[in-house]
Formats: sequence, structure tokens, C-alpha cells
Amino acid sequence: MHNKDKVLNRLYRAIELYGELGFQYLPLKKEDVGGFLKKHTPAEVYKAPQQKETISVCPDNTTDALKPLRDKIGDCKQCKLSEKRNNIVFGEGSPNADIMFIGEGPGRDEDQQARPFVGDAGKLLTKMIVKLGLKREDVYIANIVKCRPPYNRNPEEDEIASCMIFLEEQIEMIKPKVIVCLGRVAAQALLNVKTPISRMRGNFFQYRGIPVMPTFHPAYLLRTPKDKWLTWDDMQKMLRKLE
Ligand code: URA
Repeated sequence: MHNKDKVLNRLYRAIELYGELGFQYLPLKKEDVGGFLKKHTPAEVYKAPQQKETISVCPDNTTDALKPLRDKIGDCKQCKLSEKRNNIVFGEGSPNADIMFIGEGPGRDEDQQARPFVGDAGKLLTKMIVKLGLKREDVYIANIVKCRPPYNRNPEEDEIASCMIFLEEQIEMIKPKVIVCLGRVAAQALLNVKTPISRMRGNFFQYRGIPVMPTFHPAYLLRTPKDKWLTWDDMQKMLRKLE
């Protein structure tokens, strides 16, 4: 392909990608664009590791390295969320994932399907993962609490406290190279801080030596599409951490 065609083709793909993510304008200066096009996209640079184990597509039938933990959780009744839940949403993805996404807790769709991030917010998250050049099965997706808080309220402190041990063990087993916290509840609970998400996002924090990137929750982005580019920026920073 002619060089000019290549550049135009890349520009077209970039604009198409940002458009699909809901961007209505690009916060770029003219001089940024030249460099942007010359660079490889992070998705081209970062290659997901070869899978060494099967992927736990259906967490209740988990057969991978995380099964002992799923078995240990059993039919957990440690907190009041167990009273109204239909299913425990353990988490899913590759036990060898470099990237772990952590949300706050299952919603209605997740509670019904026993899978994390499968509703509207989940669809947006999946779209972003794909646009980063990854597959959902390459990463690991979990939540701070594993049972749905009634009426999608935020999980309460006692509920977070009794569920946190399971997430800690999941992180310990997966050993991700980077964690993305989706939204205020996840970031504040994992990092044990009270800082607003708007101040945390875009900056790296540490959880037991693992870099953590807090960003906006996809449900917030569905309500506030003009902020999607900020999360997209955070995701790119996160990918660059893996290079
Ligand atoms: N929101 C979350 O925080 N987690 C899910 O699994 C789904 C929606």
C-alpha cells in the first residue's frame, strides 16, 4: 500500500474506533496527530500471553487453578447479600491474565447469569477490551462483592469486609501485572482510601506491589459519554505499563 494510503487508512481506523466508543470530538491538537499516527497503537504493541490453562467461561463450572477458591466460597452466607442473591458471581477469565478488571458488584443480569459484567455496562467494558486488541478471555474480570446488592445499591462496608478475602485470594492466585478498578467503590475498597474517583483516575496506585489504575465505571460512562475519552486514556496508560 502507498504510504499516504497507509496513513489515511490508520487515521480512518482510529477515528472509527473513537467514534464507536462514543467520542463526539477528539481532544487533540494538530501537532499531536502526526505523532499519534506514526506510533503503533498500544494494541499492536501489547500481545496477550499464550494461554497455559483453559479459561473459566462459566465460573460455576470452573475447572482451572481458581476452582479450589470457588469451592471454598461454596454457598457463602457470610453477609446479608446472600439473602437476596440468585447466584454468586465469582469472576471469569484467564487464570494467567496480565490484566485484571475489578468492578463493585454484580447487577441484575450478572446475578441471573452468574457472570460478571454481562449487562449494558459489561457490553461497554467488553467493547473496550476488544478495542484494546484483547479478548475478554485474555483478561480476568471480578468484583469487590460477589453477590448482587439489592436494587443495585452500593455494597456496604460490612459486606465489602466479609467478601474482600475472596478477592484478595483471587488476586494472589492470578498475579496480574496490572489491575484496573472500575469506579469509585472498587478503587476505594481495594486501595482502602476515600479519595474521589475523579482525583484517582488516570494515576497509578499500588496494591501489594501491583500497579492499580482506577478509572470510571462503564455504567457511569453510559450516562456520561463525554467522559469516555478519559477512560480510554486510562486504558492506554494501563497497556503501556505492560510493554
Ligand atoms: N457492575 C459492576 O460493578 N460489576 C458487574 O459485574 C456488573 C456491573
